[in-house]
Amino acid sequence: MKSVLFDDQAIANYAKEKKVQPFKVKQIFYEMYKNQNIDFDDMTTISKEMRAELAESFVPISLEVDKIKEDKQTTKIWFKTHDGHLIETVIIYHRQPTKHVKNNTPKINRITLCISSQVGCPVNCLFCVTGKLGFSRNLTRDEIISQVLYANNYIKKKFGKKDDNTLHAVRNVVFMGMGEPLLNYDNMRHAIQVMLQQDRFSLSKRHITISTAGIIPGIKKMVTDMIDVKLAISLHAPNQDLREKIMPIARTYKLNDLMRSIDEYVKATKNRIFYEYIMIKDVTDKPELAKQLCQLLRGRLAHVNLIPYNTNPAIKLGESDMETIREFQRILEKFGITTTVRDSMGRSVKSACGQLWFEKVKWKNEENEDEDD
Ligand code: SF4
Repeated sequence: MKSVLFDDQAIANYAKEKKVQPFKVKQIFYEMYKNQNIDFDDMTTISKEMRAELAESFVPISLEVDKIKEDKQTTKIWFKTHDGHLIETVIIYHRQPTKHVKNNTPKINRITLCISSQVGCPVNCLFCVTGKLGFSRNLTRDEIISQVLYANNYIKKKFGKKDDNTLHAVRNVVFMGMGEPLLNYDNMRHAIQVMLQQDRFSLSKRHITISTAGIIPGIKKMVTDMIDVKLAISLHAPNQDLREKIMPIARTYKLNDLMRSIDEYVKATKNRIFYEYIMIKDVTDKPELAKQLCQLLRGRLAHVNLIPYNTNPAIKLGESDMETIREFQRILEKFGITTTVRDSMGRSVKSACGQLWFEKVKWKNEENEDEDD
């Protein structure tokens, strides 16, 4: 199997064997990370002969595109892995507020990439479609990085250069796609190192978010390894009983222990924690739960993101109405907790939170119904 072109070790071995000068090796990385190219033909700062030689031993990325679907706010990409699995990545475009828009074409303010860390997910949260498909395997470091390289190339082709003559590119990476990143800790950590490296993606720590269902050993490792990127906790319930009902992982990692490990993380990094809280009709959206959440987060460095649940046919749960969500928010804010109600961007391409794998689950259900008939 060919190595990926961004594999430092494979390139170093190749350079040694073929006696390639160090500046030419730098050009390869420059083409991929700064010029955002993933086709050998586009890497024109490298000679034609060298590109042909490289193509014999390397592939630019380790994923193949299976399908792309998009609307104005998002592009959803299905990638196929070398062993035939499908994973998803979503590019989210944050545009200028419409009041500043000229010629009806709102400019892109920033671009966020939602990436997957596993094929499927073993955590199986009640409200999540991905969890219904079970778990196949962890993604490799290269498969995680390939998602970002592909997205940057896609964005370059779609939008070209900004007014300041630099290329549009991914600014934020969130580990909120398929999978639980802290159950794929080493590959996630190595991929983050590449994201932060100056001569690679050169992203800021503040622009990378790890979202976890509360894997305590992973949070502790982050403290030891000083991975002080943004941490988002998928809390979704303010007490142990309810959390166990909607997130089975809470039976292993109890809420009190989880909060203690988060406190250690905050003490070590001084970072504010983002608590994700899904609003499910008559399950998580009651005012008394908002009050319990206030007590849980009392004195803690916290921001709460309220996420309107998106219905889908695979799961029998309902959406909270906006008035209920606003009331929940009012209770938190009255208590002094900053709160954002998340946009459900990407509904039309089924890429909003909890809707990844919508099509596959729908298809599976239809298959089961056929068998029942
Ligand atoms: S919400 Fe996240 S952790 Fe829970 S099942 Fe879905 S992908 Fe896994």
